[in-house]
Amino acid sequence: MLTSRKPLRVAIVGGGVTGLTAAWQIQRLGHRVTVLEAGTRAGGVVGAQRLGAWLQELGPNSLLESSPEIAAFVDDVGLAPRRLYAAPAAKQRYLVRGGRPVALPTSPGAFLRTPLFSAGAKLRLLLEPLWRRAPADADETLADFVRRRLGREFLDYAINPFVAGVYAGDPERLSVRHAFPRLHALERDHGSLLLGALRRRNPSGGPKGRIFSFPEGLGEIPRALQARLVDPVLLRTRVTALRRTGATWRLALEQRGTTGEAEFDLVVCALPADALAALDFPDLAPGAGLRLLAEIPHPSVVSVFTGHRREDVPHPLDGFGLLVPAVEGGRILGTLFSSTLFPGRAPEGHVALTTFVGGTRQPELAALDDAALTALVREELGRYLGVGGTPAIVRVQRWPRAIPQYAPGHQRFLTAIAQLEAAAPGVFVGGNCRDGISLPNCIAAGYRLAATVRRHTGD
Ligand SMILES: Cc1cc2nc3c(=O)[nH]c(=O)nc-3n(C[C@H](O)[C@H](O)[C@H](O)COP(=O)(O)OP(=O)(O)OC[C@H]3O[C@@H](n4cnc5c(N)ncnc54)[C@H](O)[C@@H]3O)c2cc1C
Repeated sequence: MLTSRKPLRVAIVGGGVTGLTAAWQIQRLGHRVTVLEAGTRAGGVVGAQRLGAWLQELGPNSLLESSPEIAAFVDDVGLAPRRLYAAPAAKQRYLVRGGRPVALPTSPGAFLRTPLFSAGAKLRLLLEPLWRRAPADADETLADFVRRRLGREFLDYAINPFVAGVYAGDPERLSVRHAFPRLHALERDHGSLLLGALRRRNPSGGPKGRIFSFPEGLGEIPRALQARLVDPVLLRTRVTALRRTGATWRLALEQRGTTGEAEFDLVVCALPADALAALDFPDLAPGAGLRLLAEIPHPSVVSVFTGHRREDVPHPLDGFGLLVPAVEGGRILGTLFSSTLFPGRAPEGHVALTTFVGGTRQPELAALDDAALTALVREELGRYLGVGGTPAIVRVQRWPRAIPQYAPGHQRFLTAIAQLEAAAPGVFVGGNCRDGISLPNCIAAGYRLAATVRRHTGD
């Protein structure tokens, strides 16, 4: 622990939402914060592009008000007056079954009537509380967990598409313990998902988990955070190595083609796994760095934004979007009904859709060129939603390493990070390979990092 001596010089390596939130909160502790960002803009994978009356989200499209802390963050960063909750018209969620979009049931009665699941699958769900829980130390795949508790049909028609929508992942390759800790805890604490979910039903009347964004998209979050920092984010500044010099840390930097160094008292690394793995720690024992993190799988995802004349889309688009289960044999993971979700995403008389391709399921499709991807998306939108005509706009955004997949055995990466922090006092690590993949997780990670710095400095 350092004795409190303010302001300490704190480097934040990585200017995504994790790093910017950490920077803002650490600045509030009274320290001098410098954000070092390799890219040409801050925000990381978060950013939106206004194209006339169209608004294209490049990465994430919305976030969930999953806790009172997230609502408080939006207030605190000054974005509450701009918050847009998902439109009531976006209430339905569609799954493809038998090649057709079918609305997910939203009430117990609708669940009993839905053609999405067979009578056998519905009965299997009601029997869920009878199945025994897994041994406490099990690190099961999500697929094994769901087959065991809910049956095969739920895996294929509920969990598989849901996981494609959240992780662009495959339940056969995700750990329930690490990727879905709340689901894991329901079984551990209540012996049943159904009983656990019923007992945990929001008795305090807290936020129900509404989905939101902003008029100019999620890029408003990094912009608001940057506006609160005293020192501007240093763009095109890549950190390559961290060397201990007495009580301080000397960072090796590549800045616009030149190399340099800068000295800090504390360093927060808010980077994706491959960037953490590439950081050099020349003073530490061989193997003490984060090279192991290069093994965390990150599937490639392409987000294809298309705009259409309203009359070219016969589907009412009365929902959040559509997800395609792998067993349906489609070539897209799913499509968001972007202009239904939030206003201001498409010109009058038009609609905007955002379609995701690739992921763990079909990495080869993410490698197609723009023309082939556009043709594929148009065909699939035609098949599921009846979309015809020529799109008014198409934009392709590629994410070659989109989202970290928390597979069984993910614990070894978390252990490597904890060991690095123990071996390198004053260096702290956070972000989507450690703290959870969602934006709320990354915002919470920024607060966690600031709390860790406060404990470290003894404040
Ligand atoms: C296509 C896609 C869709 C998504 N959809 C959603 C969604 O709808 N809702 C949701 O909640 N979440 C979603 N997510 C997940 C969420 O957006 C991310 O997990 C989160 O934004 C990651 O933030 P981060 O700051 O930890 O990392 P990043 O955003 O990756 O930021 C890390 C930053 O570090 C910089 N950097 C890298 N190396 C160095 C270096 N050596 N030196 C300095 N800087 C460096 C990078 O340039 C980058 O700016 C989605 C993600 C993707 C990719």
